[in-house]
Amino acid sequence: MSVHFAAFAGSYPRVNQCPASDKPEFAFIGRSNVGKSSLINAITGHNSLAHISNTPGKTRLINFFLINRAWHLVDLPGYGYARISKTKREQWRRMVQDYLVLRSQMVCAFVLIDSNVLPQAIDLEFVNWLGEMHVPFVLVFTKTDRKKIDQEANINAFQEAMLESWESLPPVFRTSSVTGEGVSGVLAYIQDLIDANPIVE
Ligand code: GDP
Repeated sequence: MSVHFAAFAGSYPRVNQCPASDKPEFAFIGRSNVGKSSLINAITGHNSLAHISNTPGKTRLINFFLINRAWHLVDLPGYGYARISKTKREQWRRMVQDYLVLRSQMVCAFVLIDSNVLPQAIDLEFVNWLGEMHVPFVLVFTKTDRKKIDQEANINAFQEAMLESWESLPPVFRTSSVTGEGVSGVLAYIQDLIDANPIVE
């Protein structure tokens, strides 16, 4: 798939305020600083698109982007911010969980994990929760271009940690927004899923 159209389509505070739509949705989520904005920009071919999600008032919202007038890329607020109140964390949890569990248009969640760090409890807790809730998801290991770090060891360790709870593993992608590695693979996977789920309403 090549992206020939990408535009910001709206921000919503709760799943029940997300618009009625006949288009499939693909959600992107991960720990803050994991490289989500950079990857969304690389996927859409727009250098500033995802920064819309980082503008004041939009960082804690569900941000929709219309791609090729055919599907929505949904940028979900990240987790793992150091200084955040319990109330805010609970609001985040409810917003994200409700979207992922209740939104019928949601086809697959792309969970971004930094390939340069050892498995983090917060990421493992999140993917384990997705599994328990039967939310379809894949893992995207980001920033694979960084030198001097054994990313494969980190990726293997993450998968082994998941296998402590699960018998099988979700598909895995490796991406770099610097070199462009893996971007076409993510888009091809989205196309495959669209072809397999042509109508969602
Ligand atoms: P977000 O908070 O998840 O949206 O992360 P950003 O996309 O804003 O990236 C966080 C930091 O990681 C920034 O300093 C980026 O320049 C850097 N970064 C993002 N993607 C990559 C990547 O693929 N490779 C490298 N080396 N750095 C990256």
